[in-house]
Amino acid sequence: MKAMLLSRQAPVEEAPLELVEMAVPEPREDEILIRILTCGICHTDLHTVEGDLPLHKSPVIPGHQIVGVVEKRGARVESLGLGERVGVAWLHWTCGKCRYCLRGDENLCENARFTGWDADGGYAEFAVVPAHFSYPLPEGLSAVEVAPLLCAGIVGFRALKLSEVLPGETLAMYGFGASAHVNIQIALGRGCRVIVFSRSAEHRRLARDLGATWAGTIEEKPPLRPERAVIFAPAGPLVRHALELVDKGGTVALASIHMTPVPELNYETHLYNEKRLRSVTAATRQDGVELLREAAAVPVRTRTEVFSLTDANRALWLLKESKINGAGVLEPGSQSPTVKDR
Ligand SMILES: [Zn+2]
Ligand SMILES: [Zn+2]
Repeated sequence: MKAMLLSRQAPVEEAPLELVEMAVPEPREDEILIRILTCGICHTDLHTVEGDLPLHKSPVIPGHQIVGVVEKRGARVESLGLGERVGVAWLHWTCGKCRYCLRGDENLCENARFTGWDADGGYAEFAVVPAHFSYPLPEGLSAVEVAPLLCAGIVGFRALKLSEVLPGETLAMYGFGASAHVNIQIALGRGCRVIVFSRSAEHRRLARDLGATWAGTIEEKPPLRPERAVIFAPAGPLVRHALELVDKGGTVALASIHMTPVPELNYETHLYNEKRLRSVTAATRQDGVELLREAAAVPVRTRTEVFSLTDANRALWLLKESKINGAGVLEPGSQSPTVKDR
């Protein structure tokens, strides 16, 4: 199979991912082999490739937003059928035994392994994954549309859950990239009003197009007072803005895994009146199942830009430069016609 392999971390401008020919991996008894249709690209891939994250496995195939079809099943796999379409996300495996797993917080598992970091991911034509950590996919969403839901979508969805936003409430969103553009559609589908803060005029326009009641900058005063807020942008100072803005009893959830320093909070303005602040760490399988169900029902439409597998270095560079419209997706099938007899 063809794969874009990372052996040496380097700035993406140096094209560190190398096109290689590898043996198609064999699934172990609890695993499935999937033929990859698409794989979304994500900032975490960029951090893996460039060395902001230490390598857990070397060499490694990055990529953790995989859509594919079951090509082969391990001896003990009964939950999925051959040819079934599945999705694979960042959470590759959890132990099921630690205190976090036992209470349903597998996103906090002490022994968790991650796709495209601890195990080979989706920048390839095939991948093996544990059957219990792949998601059967709903009809009605194409392989290209689903890919961005599997990381950006799921993590933002968990933030939406932790914000405890109720139907009919007003939700503020800070930042409007891949994750927000999925989750605004979920929130609107639940009958919420959404206001959006973004520095980018283009993102504000997209937010209005998708149904935001209002979109502006943090220097402007929105027409509605939100009950809840989700901060997608990795900018610590926004925490103060959001906590001050939300109504009494309001919740602010942070969808970003990395965050610049959060400035000092003032008890009276930022926390009093039972305001809550939540952070998000990865996501559980249950989050994935719920998002995919809700996304299919809305239905959520993702904006994507498709690249061939061999174009992965360039796609990551465009991501780094914020030059991708919507979410970037690799499509192994869209590459050279030499890859025919599988
Ligand atoms: Zn665990
Ligand atoms: Zn990701």
